[in-house]
Amino acid sequence: MKTCLIIGGGIVGLSTAYFLHRQGHQVTLVDQSDMTGGASFVNAGYLTPSHIVPLAAPGMVAKGLRMMFNPASPFYLKPRADKDLLLWMWQFYKSANARHVRKSMKIIADINVLSKSLYTEMKQEKVFEFHLEEKGVLNVFKTEKIGTSEIRVAEWVKAEGLEVEILSQAQLKALEPHYDFDALGAVFYKCDAHTTPTIFMKNMMSYLETVGVAIHRNEQVTDFDISNNKIAKVHTTFKSFQADEVILATGSWSPVLMKKLGLHLSLQAGKGYAINVYKATNIQYPAILMEAKVAVTPMQGFTRFGGTMELGGVNHHISNIRVNAIAEAAKKYYPGLEISKFDLEHAKCGLRPVSPDGLPYIGRIAALQNVTLATGHAMMGWSLGPATGKLISEMISGEKLSMDIRPFTPDRRF
Ligand SMILES: Cc1cc2nc3c(=O)[nH]c(=O)nc-3n(C[C@H](O)[C@H](O)[C@H](O)COP(=O)(O)OP(=O)(O)OC[C@H]3O[C@@H](n4cnc5c(N)ncnc54)[C@H](O)[C@@H]3O)c2cc1C
Repeated sequence: MKTCLIIGGGIVGLSTAYFLHRQGHQVTLVDQSDMTGGASFVNAGYLTPSHIVPLAAPGMVAKGLRMMFNPASPFYLKPRADKDLLLWMWQFYKSANARHVRKSMKIIADINVLSKSLYTEMKQEKVFEFHLEEKGVLNVFKTEKIGTSEIRVAEWVKAEGLEVEILSQAQLKALEPHYDFDALGAVFYKCDAHTTPTIFMKNMMSYLETVGVAIHRNEQVTDFDISNNKIAKVHTTFKSFQADEVILATGSWSPVLMKKLGLHLSLQAGKGYAINVYKATNIQYPAILMEAKVAVTPMQGFTRFGGTMELGGVNHHISNIRVNAIAEAAKKYYPGLEISKFDLEHAKCGLRPVSPDGLPYIGRIAALQNVTLATGHAMMGWSLGPATGKLISEMISGEKLSMDIRPFTPDRRF
């Protein structure tokens, strides 16, 4: 049995606490917030084995450059003279090639499939209540151009053994009978699933506290004492902790803490927005509206519309232009859809921790013996939280790992 201190209580930190506790370790978790908001609460709730193509892929740089000058576009990079951002952009550019995509697809598929099976296991074991529907996700397209490229990706996903179907316009309309869906067709990723993140997070936290995981909210980790290549003490705004193992699950804030350890981590915050519509929309299926890059999820009690990847540093400023753009784009696919002023005014945002090569950072860091990193999951953090937690608990317990995590090493070079 080891004492483990997890810094960060998003989906990655909570999942790590869950699996470490199950392995019999004594777990403490510290979070600087009250743990009611942020990326792990406002995400689209998709579990996406289908997302096998890393963000750093051919064409992404050109696409990004084209979009970044439009204030309502789904991608925005705030121009600023920031050394870390420039290095990250260079590393992203170097990673965005066909060889990297080919090399990454299988490992991304493997960790996704593992993670989805862990969600299903938790649901079946009824450890705590949460919403999980395994009815797939539609990737809806309006144009031939996007349709062709989506169908090509669908073939790759199929080759990984995952269940995919191509839907005609009529088949798509049959799935959403309440709308005269304005689209050409869709790729139906039957292998995907969806959840309601707020319910999962709240109930997982209660469960962990019931079984003895100590959760400290509103307590920020501010510094570390290092001795003999190990973290000897973790200082917070209130006190100090000592632990055999320290796990950094600090999402977009991870570079700040790594800097305090004398290390550099290449990671940028990618802001995304969520609009919750509580009035019944009658939308039946989760859908990604491909041209607009908007995610639509019928959650428990409301429908969520989410989108935007805004690389503008760590802040929670809400851009009304982008929020409105998400709503307007959704209405173009679902004619007659109503999103009220109230819904728009209550939009929320969260920061995705984005690594430059589209792979997460999972594993020990070479420079310090008792430090493990668990971050950088970008658009897949919700999907990959449980697998990340399980892999870390296996590693810390000295067990055989469920999969090879070497491609995720935080010490990798770009
Ligand atoms: C709009 C949107 C839609 C998305 N949709 C999906 C989706 O459908 N599927 C999917 O798989 N992913 C999705 N994502 C991505 C996913 O939400 C993130 O990758 C994931 O939530 C990241 O989890 P995390 O635990 O790493 O980070 P976070 O949830 O950000 O948690 C990190 C925690 O660390 C704490 N922390 C930081 N620094 C300190 C410190 N010094 N001391 C103490 N605590 C600290 C923070 O307070 C925070 O609570 C989406 C994201 C957004 C924004």
